[in-house]
Amino acid sequence: MPINVTPIAGLSDHINDIRLRTARIVNEKILPDEAVLWRGRQGQASDEERAESKALRVKVQEKVKAEGLWAPHLPPEYGGMGIDFLAHAYMNEILAYAVGAASLFGVVAPNSGNQTILAKYGTAEQKEKWLLPLVEGTMQSGFSMTEPENAGSDPRSIRTSAVREGDEWVINGHKWFTSNGLYADFFIVMCRAAEAGGEDRPGQMMQVIVPTSTPGVIIERGIGIWGNASSDHCEVRYDNVRVPAENVLGQVGDGHRAAQDRLGAGRIFHCMNSVGQMWRAFDLMVERMLTREVHGGLLKDKQFMQGFVADSYMDLQSARLMTIHAAEKVDKGDPQARTEISAIKVFVPAAYSRVVDRAIQVWGAAGVSNDLPLAGMYLTARTLRIADGPDEVHRILIAKNVLHHYEKGGSWDFAG
Ligand SMILES: Cc1cc2nc3c(=O)[nH]c(=O)nc-3n(C[C@H](O)[C@H](O)[C@H](O)COP(=O)(O)OP(=O)(O)OC[C@H]3O[C@@H](n4cnc5c(N)ncnc54)[C@H](O)[C@@H]3O)c2cc1C
Repeated sequence: MPINVTPIAGLSDHINDIRLRTARIVNEKILPDEAVLWRGRQGQASDEERAESKALRVKVQEKVKAEGLWAPHLPPEYGGMGIDFLAHAYMNEILAYAVGAASLFGVVAPNSGNQTILAKYGTAEQKEKWLLPLVEGTMQSGFSMTEPENAGSDPRSIRTSAVREGDEWVINGHKWFTSNGLYADFFIVMCRAAEAGGEDRPGQMMQVIVPTSTPGVIIERGIGIWGNASSDHCEVRYDNVRVPAENVLGQVGDGHRAAQDRLGAGRIFHCMNSVGQMWRAFDLMVERMLTREVHGGLLKDKQFMQGFVADSYMDLQSARLMTIHAAEKVDKGDPQARTEISAIKVFVPAAYSRVVDRAIQVWGAAGVSNDLPLAGMYLTARTLRIADGPDEVHRILIAKNVLHHYEKGGSWDFAG
């Protein structure tokens, strides 16, 4: 079923135009060929079939580029659309409707997050050396922050050290869940900076570019997740890794702020992606109810099933409207946006889980099969409750911000 997109009253012509053109590509060029586009993913495809899939993906990407819809997260000087924040958010809910479509529009995590950080914090030389090849697709990258021995939900606990020795930084530490680690040419590594001899004193956070070919970068394993033997989320050891001083991104001390830049507003884009996928799951669920006969009647006429439609409708609408509300606050530079971002970071993945869970139930066995995108969505939705700050951390932040407001004598303006 194609995504049903019409112009939104009150939204600029520019954003409506992007939404409609994105939907046209999703509906005409991606959805009809979805099974072929991603055929190699389950590992059952022949070399010939994989080559055919790749050629088709390149064809779609060329169409996306010709339509001027390539890389919504990047400025034009790096081959991107150069669109504003809201336009990007509204575009994501459309492109995420199709499985894997973000990569067909030039947005591939974690490369896209690294591109954004390099565009913002990189020197001219760093952009030339790392950003351009990343944009051209001749290099791959990863973001290496989380550590097995320390709480990823508390970035202050990071222990990986970078000690300045002359014109070099010497990095020692242990990371895991560095996504894309098997393919990356370089990592952006979050460290604590220290002067030589002062390693036990916690230093300022910094991010540093580390080529994966540097001696001492040891990819220990691709961590198996969700029952699979391996993945590209890697455990990495940094053992006396030496990189030139010019590889620091921004200033020493900028590390935490740069991570927030990456995660903060990025959460709006992730939530709009989740909204797009919920939309797809909802359409699939309803489509099945209209045609599947059980016990002498169509699913659509059974009240349990009607409850699924009503509850999923409310989950989807509330998730979408909360996310748009948060996006508008970010766009206006409203200081309360932090609270809204944490609220959607908790609410949207949970709503996404519920909607996909019901869609799987409606489809029965087919729901958990690889014939439909629902099983993959289910795992993604569950993972989103941990990655990028677990639910509890965001709940705490919401409560702190709201309570602080009342303690100062104010109250919350829900209409603001
Ligand atoms: C598929 C996947 C891909 C990832 N990719 C990357 C990547 O590319 N780069 C990277 O650096 N990291 C990555 N991560 C790691 C991710 O960012 C961390 O898992 C996340 O930040 C949580 O950290 P943790 O796993 O150490 O959990 P912990 O910090 O140990 O927290 C465990 C649990 O404790 C609870 N908790 C935490 N704080 C509180 C509190 N204050 N009060 C009550 N309960 C609390 C939460 O339920 C939380 O889930 C990825 C993770 C996954 C699953």
